[in-house]
Amino acid sequence: MSSDAEKYGKATKLVHGGTERSQWQETSEALILTSGYLYDSAEQAQARMAGEIGGYVYSRYNNPTVSMLEERMRILEGAEACRALASGMGAISSMLTAPIEQGDRVVGASALFGSCRWILGNQLPKFGVETEFVDGMDMEAWERALSKPTKLVLVESPANPMLDAVDIKAVSELAHKAGAQLIVDNVFATPLLQSPFELGADWVVYSATKHMDGGGRVLAGLILGPQKDMEEIIDPYIRHMGPSISPFNAWVVLKGLETLNLRVERQSQNAAALADVMAAHDAVAQLRYPGRSDHPHYAVHSKQMTSGGTLIAMSLKGGQEAAFKFLNGLNLFGISNNLGDAKSLACHPATTTHRALSEEERASMGLDESWVRLSIGLEDANDLIADVVSALDGAKTE
Ligand SMILES: *Cc1c(COP(=O)(O)O)cnc(C)c1O
Repeated sequence: MSSDAEKYGKATKLVHGGTERSQWQETSEALILTSGYLYDSAEQAQARMAGEIGGYVYSRYNNPTVSMLEERMRILEGAEACRALASGMGAISSMLTAPIEQGDRVVGASALFGSCRWILGNQLPKFGVETEFVDGMDMEAWERALSKPTKLVLVESPANPMLDAVDIKAVSELAHKAGAQLIVDNVFATPLLQSPFELGADWVVYSATKHMDGGGRVLAGLILGPQKDMEEIIDPYIRHMGPSISPFNAWVVLKGLETLNLRVERQSQNAAALADVMAAHDAVAQLRYPGRSDHPHYAVHSKQMTSGGTLIAMSLKGGQEAAFKFLNGLNLFGISNNLGDAKSLACHPATTTHRALSEEERASMGLDESWVRLSIGLEDANDLIADVVSALDGAKTE
């Protein structure tokens, strides 16, 4: 199946892509928990280690269960190559470090996942790498920043936590003119709602911890991109630096992918229904949902995404006090910084996920203490609406 899965639709690829079976012909993908592999002879060990013949050598390099996850995602995304890593940040930090040399330049959108901002802001400059942040929607700022030779560009769209957009196609053209490769963190959109490669991305990265697992069980990350660079630049880095994924975690994500299509579709429907109700509530100052035409970046989101996705950002009229009242008034929603889960979750970014940023940095993203981020799950839409409306009623200022 793995070889001819490319001709099928996305739902079929998610169920069958990359499946390999052992001599036992198991229906479900096998969990191969092993760190090492045996060789038939000393000569075979020599040849396999030298890469002259195929086969596994050590699970820091690769593992049959991990390979199935990589192949399923490679087929789904239409990439030349895919590697699975221990976490989303394991994948993104490898992607941002392996190709880089002293003196290189890396440009990122200012609205990024907190740890991605930290790598550009704190870690890469220690290696003598010049980094710059750009307002993701300001095309003149992109043109200025990419008027100098640049190695890598990192964007996230929709981005944490305000669901900002970046015009992936337009930025990819500027990045390529500057000699840079464009990396897109596609976690919020998922591979089902946005296809960055079709928009000009060179690399796509994921935290598979989120929608792909979908049950909040394991950490996992993915890098997708061109085969030659993957083999020459990323593979040696992973093999020797060791951010390898546990076969168990890869197996959980592999099985999670089988229902990704259904989950993302239903979670997005729930989110769209909730966003409409919340936007009309008088405790709400501002609401941002990529699928609503009142999102300030709707024109870009609607051009590159097929639906609004599973996340909503909302600002409350009563500031932090009202935001905390709202969070504490929720019954069904859990308070958690995780997202993409079957369970609906809500968090207060300014005091949790984005607390490490300075007030000025938060202000540059449009984030203040009045904002709450919601990740919409698989519950009945009516139950979610009732929970949110009752918590909003309790968070009214007057
Ligand atoms: C969660 C997340 C990450 C980091 O992934 P981990 O699996 O937590 O390491 C990176 N980018 C985005 C957009 C995320 O939501």
